[in-house]
Amino acid sequence: MRTDTDVLIAGAGPTGLVLAIELARRGVLPRVVDAGPSDLRESRAVAVAARSLELLDDLGLAEAAIGHGLPLHALNFYQGTALLAVLDVTVVDSPFPMDLCVPQWRTTELLRKRAEELGVTIEWRTRLSGLRADGDGVDAEIVRPDGGTERVRAGWLAGCDGAHSTVRRAAGIRWRTADLRRGFILGDVAADWDLVRDRFHVYFDRGGVLAVFPMPGGHWRVLASTPGGRPPERPGLADFAQAVAERTPLDARPRELRWSSAFAAREGLAETFRRGRVLLAGDAAHSHSPIGGQGMNTGMQDAYNLGWKLALAATGGADILDGYGAERRPVAEAVIGTTSAATRVATGRALVVRRARRHALRLLSRLTAVQRRFADALGEHLVGYRGSELVSQDWRGGPVRAWNDGAGPGPEAGELARDAYLETRSGPVALRRVLGGTGHHLLLFAAEEADPAALADWTARARQAVDGDAAVHLVTRGHLPPGPAEGVFADLRGEAHRRYGVRRPSLYLVRPDKYIAHRNDSLDLAPVRGYLRGLRGAPAAGGRVA
Ligand SMILES: Cc1cc2nc3c(=O)[nH]c(=O)nc-3n(C[C@H](O)[C@H](O)[C@H](O)COP(=O)(O)OP(=O)(O)OC[C@H]3O[C@@H](n4cnc5c(N)ncnc54)[C@H](O)[C@@H]3O)c2cc1C
Repeated sequence: MRTDTDVLIAGAGPTGLVLAIELARRGVLPRVVDAGPSDLRESRAVAVAARSLELLDDLGLAEAAIGHGLPLHALNFYQGTALLAVLDVTVVDSPFPMDLCVPQWRTTELLRKRAEELGVTIEWRTRLSGLRADGDGVDAEIVRPDGGTERVRAGWLAGCDGAHSTVRRAAGIRWRTADLRRGFILGDVAADWDLVRDRFHVYFDRGGVLAVFPMPGGHWRVLASTPGGRPPERPGLADFAQAVAERTPLDARPRELRWSSAFAAREGLAETFRRGRVLLAGDAAHSHSPIGGQGMNTGMQDAYNLGWKLALAATGGADILDGYGAERRPVAEAVIGTTSAATRVATGRALVVRRARRHALRLLSRLTAVQRRFADALGEHLVGYRGSELVSQDWRGGPVRAWNDGAGPGPEAGELARDAYLETRSGPVALRRVLGGTGHHLLLFAAEEADPAALADWTARARQAVDGDAAVHLVTRGHLPPGPAEGVFADLRGEAHRRYGVRRPSLYLVRPDKYIAHRNDSLDLAPVRGYLRGLRGAPAAGGRVA
């Protein structure tokens, strides 16, 4: 039997599901197969970062996730009974200033429902077993639940099939691995601990590190490094009770174990995230230590970066998919670097490491700028694609006036768009809502220009330049100008102008994944037109996208 599809996704974990939604939202209905059962309820990754909540918000799921989860606001670090440091995660520059604790099965359930609402069918217990790729697509072999095999011809194959990826192996993509020689046990337990339930509690001890944090429903997640680096195969309640008794001052023993797992911390990175018509995302492309809770978050962001580009290629637009790997592989490399360093420091038992750790944490907690950077890093807000071939800017800045005094440099091309509150005729609106959805957005910042005729003229020229390929929004600094209100916003408090570093009339082109594709403060529309035409696959007129 032989079937055809534009995109075949192997793996319906968080990465595969975000990708499926991103494609379906753009009219590309992928075929999705997953080797596992539909009713797997694994707790696994429980910390949803601020940036992932913004992603879920764009998919209409943040409110539901927060409703099912527990917002965590800080990390407390202890050595024995002494509180070494408190790091505040709410200073992250996000409309969701928290790390949300919610079991992975709940996150995937929300994503799955959204995908199904959009018409995606997930074929469970259906395994991709092999593939052959050529210049136009991929022949994949899948094994159905009844054991029968099927050959699928797909335009593109996305391997979102986890760390032991069959797609990666079958496509011949090398996997660079390293063993951190650290083992961990993790479990969800019931316990009567007198701990604040709005934060992570991290205990350092000679025996290793142990983190405890509250789960929705009253349980606690315990993560503990194992002595000698070798975790027991199936950790039981006694293993957690022993680690808690040895490394923390908590006197109550955990009484019930709901779920547990163990693993040796290994890191891996695929040599490329794309080979022809085969793409890798999530754990299939990179895997790292659980310290820092970045695994699921990084995978979902991969899919968010890939989704709009893959939809474009699958619908006859430009093939900018090399840009996916060029942007996301360095991010994965950086995550591996930081989580690996954090794991070594957190589990280091030598006296010199313990002393350095103590001093560093005490210092960290006293420096506001460092705290903010830490919160931004944990919230995945430092991720950006500056220097990507897909982004550009021509930004000169301008004179400081009373109205723009205090404005920062604004997000550079490749950095994340920022949120702010704007006024419309029907009330206030968050800029992130204006920038929501599946397309590009062009923001025109009026700065000191207040002449209604000039503003109307810019907007008209901008609409003509983008030719329907981006939504155009005018952001005025004063009150709303007379005339049509559609696409016009007033930045009455100047917040948006300040946050975008605007000192003279300027424009920002925002990509569907909410990163800045282009900015200039000469109101030059040619690069915008060139970029958008390039995406269509039409000859570019000045942009860098070919
Ligand atoms: C025990 C455990 C605990 C973890 N704890 C944390 C944590 O606390 N914090 C954190 O950030 N991360 C944690 N992680 C990592 C986190 O769960 C992953 O980073 C995240 O699930 C990656 O999502 P993914 O969709 O890329 O891959 P996965 O979630 O692994 O999904 C891959 C999917 O592909 C399917 N599949 C596999 N092979 C095939 C095939 N041949 N054909 C079709 N389908 C296939 C699988 O059934 C699975 O559904 C943990 C992982 C494990 C295993």
